[in-house]
Amino acid sequence: MTAGLSRIVIVGGGFAGVATARALRRRLPSSWEIVVYSRENHLCFSPLLPEVVGSSLNPMHVVWSIREMLKGVICRTTPVTGFDLDVQQIRYRAEDGTEASEHYDHLVIAAGLPVRLEIIEGMGDYGWPIKTLGDAAALRNHLIAQLERSELAESPERKRALLSVAVVGGGFTGVEVAAAILDLLLDAAPFYSRIRPEEIQVHLLEGGPRILAPLTEKLAAFAHRKLEARGMHIQTGVGVEAADAGGLRLAGGAHIDASTVISAVGNGVHPLIANSGLALSRGRIQVNGAMQVEGHADVWALGDCAAVPNAEDDSISPTLAQFAGPQGQQLAKNLEAVIAGRSPQAFRHHSRGLFCLIGHRNAVGQAFGLRIAGFPAWVMWHAIYWAKMPSAARKLQIAVDWLWDLCFPRDIVELSMEQTRELEARHGKPTAS
Ligand SMILES: Cc1cc2nc3c(=O)[nH]c(=O)nc-3n(C[C@H](O)[C@H](O)[C@H](O)COP(=O)(O)OP(=O)(O)OC[C@H]3O[C@@H](n4cnc5c(N)ncnc54)[C@H](O)[C@@H]3O)c2cc1C
Repeated sequence: MTAGLSRIVIVGGGFAGVATARALRRRLPSSWEIVVYSRENHLCFSPLLPEVVGSSLNPMHVVWSIREMLKGVICRTTPVTGFDLDVQQIRYRAEDGTEASEHYDHLVIAAGLPVRLEIIEGMGDYGWPIKTLGDAAALRNHLIAQLERSELAESPERKRALLSVAVVGGGFTGVEVAAAILDLLLDAAPFYSRIRPEEIQVHLLEGGPRILAPLTEKLAAFAHRKLEARGMHIQTGVGVEAADAGGLRLAGGAHIDASTVISAVGNGVHPLIANSGLALSRGRIQVNGAMQVEGHADVWALGDCAAVPNAEDDSISPTLAQFAGPQGQQLAKNLEAVIAGRSPQAFRHHSRGLFCLIGHRNAVGQAFGLRIAGFPAWVMWHAIYWAKMPSAARKLQIAVDWLWDLCFPRDIVELSMEQTRELEARHGKPTAS
């Protein structure tokens, strides 16, 4: 630590960690060093990941450099490997791979929630998660590769399998991803001489009685009808027992044949948090209303990884970015208050509403007491997220992407990352001329 400075260490460079660091830097004098540890050097705007999968957004445009966003904050791109709360230290992976430690005066844990594919048997081996930029970009590439393979497939059965996708989970993420994939495959089909649109199968499977449970029944029914009219196969009240190499096995013995299986269900406990010795509530760190960990006045937690009570309605905050950001702003105010010897305040947030894209330039949502569906909801969804982009440059890039998508066919380039050495290994080395 720099002599004479006090330090706040923030673990996590997602919505919660970045919002906390930004607000803290504005509030605290430079005698307080703020250090953010994150596994990536960017903030990923997860609500836009389904559009990356559907190839209507450039993957680079949904991430932002944390360094550029956090002027005056020290950013370290490396995982934190543990906490020694008794001696106020975190452990992290140093550049040479060894474990190093750093002292903190206050620790803020904002490490998010990992996906747990194993919630369904076989999903760890055969399923695609949708959580990170890497997941979305790899899935997009895989879907385009499946189209290319289908063009070459000789048997109709093989072609059907290659063109079949099954998405497990009829919540917001599942519906948005399934809708984006259907749009991508249907829009791409005319460019392939041997693919007919009716050969494309996208299945959406939901265990509950209806998709989009947090929305009103009417809006969910609208979404269901629209998706089915476009050709999606939706099953509700269905138990998925296992994923295998050929698709999904359902309770009762039925099988859905699909070469691509995506899981949009199931969070696990973050290993860092599981090993921290902190009290957990349903896999999230237990905190009081001010986001302080009981028994540790210098440890705070927020975002998806913490069970943060919301004083607005005495509920536990949902795992949503629209809660993680405001939590970060409140936590910064609380830290400033505690440092100045004042009491911290409870987190209170009124949800602004919920929107879900359902494909083909349609969405459903409820906000400010209004229920809205179809193209106007699609416009509203895009306007809301566009307003949240952190820089004018990204606003412009994203606006161009969306405008491009309205006017031109979506990009079906399979991004090849094959390097010369790999090409040579696969196809042979060139000979001397
Ligand atoms: C596909 C998808 C769509 C979504 N759509 C919406 C939506 O429409 N609206 C909405 O409000 N929310 C949406 N969400 C949820 C939203 O993304 C999360 O609620 C939000 O990201 C939570 O923020 P967070 O900072 O707590 O966690 P995250 O954003 O997950 O960030 C966690 C950070 O911690 C870092 N980290 C983890 N472990 C370590 C470690 N050991 N050391 C250092 N750093 C570590 C990670 O690298 C990451 O930077 C969506 C999520 C997904 C996956």
